[in-house]
Amino acid sequence: MILVLLGAPGAGKGTQAEALAAATGAAHVATGDLFRAEIAAGSELGRTAKSYIDAGTLVPDEVTIGMIGARLAKPDAKHRVILDGFPRTKAQAAALDAAFAPTGRRISAILLNVDVAILTARLTGRRICSGCGRPYHVEHRPPAVADRCDACGSALITRSDDAPATVAARLEHQLAALADVVQVYRASGRLKVVEGVGEIAAIQSQLVAAAAAVGFAS
Ligand code: AMP
Repeated sequence: MILVLLGAPGAGKGTQAEALAAATGAAHVATGDLFRAEIAAGSELGRTAKSYIDAGTLVPDEVTIGMIGARLAKPDAKHRVILDGFPRTKAQAAALDAAFAPTGRRISAILLNVDVAILTARLTGRRICSGCGRPYHVEHRPPAVADRCDACGSALITRSDDAPATVAARLEHQLAALADVVQVYRASGRLKVVEGVGEIAAIQSQLVAAAAAVGFAS
């Protein structure tokens, strides 16, 4: 089964998907992380993606769909997968359905719902680990030791696309696309909504319950 975790930039998809993957043993596949790994590796795909990511816009569908297709073909993605950050357009959602409908693999979506006013503060306060990519927040999820990752000890950094000007562009470009994707899953009866504001652990409990309700459990 594939569980699609939907949410605006800053909704907490990465944090919640990581915890849900740990709780259920599912693979956590995040297109943003895949792009950042390609950029770090200096690949051609990474160079293509970087210009869009730095501008706060979406990487073109054909590039993104090709990359996620290759990732989902790997052995650890054969059973249960949490998709974080994909699909982000109607065309991506259609490609996902087309790829998996013939296999009978179910695809359900959960929207982490967060008010737009809260998203900007969350994004500009976000930090990520330069080593393992784990997300933090200066107020809501600080590390135990200042500027160091709890998991691997590497330095925490601000993502280049979390700079205030890029955050504004990302929200402007990506909220309309998110609404389209939400509608695809709502119209086909495959959407659940979890409110994404409050304590991280409380949101995780609701997410676990919503995931279990669609048959995605450990
Ligand atoms: P994220 O880490 O999910 O916030 O993604 C960081 C950036 O990667 C986004 O702002 C987009 O530029 C790009 N990106 C991630 N996922 C996708 C996707 N499914 N389609 C297009 N662009 C994406």
